Amino acid sequence: MPDIRPPRPTQPDNAPPPGKRCPRCRVVLEHERSYVAKGLTGVPSFEHRFVCPACDTHYRWSSRDQRWREVH
Ligand SMILES: [Zn+2]
Repeated sequence: MPDIRPPRPTQPDNAPPPGKRCPRCRVVLEHERSYVAKGLTGVPSFEHRFVCPACDTHYRWSSRDQRWREVH
């Protein structure tokens, strides 16, 4: 039997982990927009903006550092 397996569904590194919740309201954030940002090195990174529908706080996720940041 040839070892043929379907391609493993991998999380693209430009997508944020799903189900991020507002640390204050415990509400799932709503996706606002995505864009490509070029850093100082010229290497593009994928940025995603989210907003909490309850308290209207904005959050940003960057593929560069793979972290959520609150946007002030
Ligand atoms: Zn909130």
